[in-house]
Amino acid sequence: MHPSTRLSFDDGPGPSTPALLDVLRASACQALFFVLGSNLAQAMDVATRAVREGHVLGNHTYSHARPGAVSDAVLSDEIERTDALIREAYRLAGVPEPASIPLRLPYGLEPQDVRSDVLTRLKRSHTGWTAILDDWCRPPPSPHALAESMRRHIADRMALGLDVLFCLHDGSRFAEARPATVEAVRLLLSDPGWQTGPLANGRGAG
Ligand SMILES: [Zn+2]
Repeated sequence: MHPSTRLSFDDGPGPSTPALLDVLRASACQALFFVLGSNLAQAMDVATRAVREGHVLGNHTYSHARPGAVSDAVLSDEIERTDALIREAYRLAGVPEPASIPLRLPYGLEPQDVRSDVLTRLKRSHTGWTAILDDWCRPPPSPHALAESMRRHIADRMALGLDVLFCLHDGSRFAEARPATVEAVRLLLSDPGWQTGPLANGRGAG
């Protein structure tokens, strides 16, 4: 088995998500979208399109609260509200929902994270990443710089026979557009070798 390379996008859906879906569709690349419930509630059409095009929706909580900023009860409720919206997106798309909805907490799961108890109680595992891109910064790096960071990370991991899971951002709590992210992904997927290689169909086909 060759190592796999996957893309994941947090904090959407946002204004750039449709353009990102166009780019992914052009390269037959399927990704994971860790959506915010608050954004999803406003963008069911975008989420149903993502599901129809073979992408997987993950839960990134409802409001993107910082670790410890909300009680366990509120966090638990946020996760369940967002799950319900995700299930609704699959239902509207006419696509069977996966056996379990992936979950990624805002800011990632830290060692001794105060939110671990909630995950245990909800019997949920956490999906991390192998590289998080600084495409969320204001301003973000250039698309070329972002694509170059991704190429380097892929090469480093492939050399060790290890899988890759990128964490990028297709939105934000503040409904920011992410044109640099969309263009960086387009550049990466346009690389010769990637079109039929590790990113095709979101799994290690190469
Ligand atoms: Zn986030």
